[in-house]
Amino acid sequence: MRIVDVIAKKRDGGALSREEIDFFVGGVTSGTIPEYQSSALLMAIVINGMNAEETAQLTDAMLRSGGRVDLSDIPGTKVGKHSTGGVGDKVSIVLAPLAAALGVILPKMSGRGLGHTGGTLDKLESIPGFRVNLSVDEFKKVLRTVGTCIIGQTESLAPADRKLYALRDVTGTVEAIPLLASSIMSKKLAEGSDALLLDVKAGDGAFMKTVEGARALGEAMVAIGTRAGLRTEAVITDMDSPLGFEIGNASEIIEAIETLRGRGPACLTSVVTRVGCRVLAMAGVEQDEAAAIARMKDALTSGAALQTFVRMIEAQGGDVRVVDDYSLLPLAPDREVFRASRSGWITAIKAGAIGRASNALGAGRGAIDETIDHGVGITVRVYAGVEVRQGELLIELRHRGGRGLAAAMTLVREAVVIGDAPPAEKPKVIAELR
Ligand code: URA
Repeated sequence: MRIVDVIAKKRDGGALSREEIDFFVGGVTSGTIPEYQSSALLMAIVINGMNAEETAQLTDAMLRSGGRVDLSDIPGTKVGKHSTGGVGDKVSIVLAPLAAALGVILPKMSGRGLGHTGGTLDKLESIPGFRVNLSVDEFKKVLRTVGTCIIGQTESLAPADRKLYALRDVTGTVEAIPLLASSIMSKKLAEGSDALLLDVKAGDGAFMKTVEGARALGEAMVAIGTRAGLRTEAVITDMDSPLGFEIGNASEIIEAIETLRGRGPACLTSVVTRVGCRVLAMAGVEQDEAAAIARMKDALTSGAALQTFVRMIEAQGGDVRVVDDYSLLPLAPDREVFRASRSGWITAIKAGAIGRASNALGAGRGAIDETIDHGVGITVRVYAGVEVRQGELLIELRHRGGRGLAAAMTLVREAVVIGDAPPAEKPKVIAELR
């Protein structure tokens, strides 16, 4: 078989056979297919799609590219959680220790920044010393002692996704249901959970711009999970605006810690607790929604959730002092501000442009081997529905020596929409797929 023929078949709209998909994924994993050919096939998939059978085969091949963690010797229902990607989305960093503080075992294999969205691994790595590349034995040890552990794909767990994910990030090949679904579900099946809650983002800053698109992605992933014997549910949440006020890496860790102290932005806390309700129910910890929310709020205000985060940081090699001393995080020193061009009501802070602005400052990658700057990012001081006066400070850009600042400013200008009347209120949680 020749990979060039597989690329041409997908370019012409054909459906790939199991053998062809196995050949592609096997070649990606072993390194025998060069990145330019993998990228060409990824782009053909973005343009021509894959049917449900191909998507299932792709997921299966990506799962089989590595092993599966066996967590059967850890008692209790292990519940995974994954987001399809957003701007300012730090839900996992808050929810994993919060759920663990309430007795859930939450194993998690996350990703890095992807396209204009940030990645949980990059954010966690802004904590000095924090390791995401644990061995399976270390992963299980942390899960046993802390209740949660967040790692990345490795040479032995989801290695095909590790390579394809990095390629998709820099080749404009993220936004396709088969690629999103297979990337996420191959990791979730490899991480060894018994049940899975998916946070499917919809809106300007998501990979699915419409609720219908998000629903289709959610349904595709629920079908893959269910077919594989993994109890899978999805919640569709809004991603038109950034989630919280901080967008970047180190600054998102600070906002996550503040949220774990019970002082987080209302929109972030509400998504954490709504998604958390389903996680607690799936784990068999708390079925009643009101009781679950009360228990989570208590764990946030009592310090129990933050304490679990501290234990997770320590177990993964990070410097726990960051929790009380944010100056230990590598925040960039330079600031620029963006002010309101007129008085009126904020009708939108477009998450897509804000995510791209953060990347322009260096928070994301433009090439596969680029190193990111954990300290740069954007702080949004307002949100849709707020009345502002001309000249009021709306957004701060944290940069290093002006790198990427002009491009970021242009994007910030594009992101902020000021109108004559407040916009209609939108719910953060849009729908649940069970
Ligand atoms: N998260 C993933 O793990 N993969 C994607 O493709 C998108 C979000």
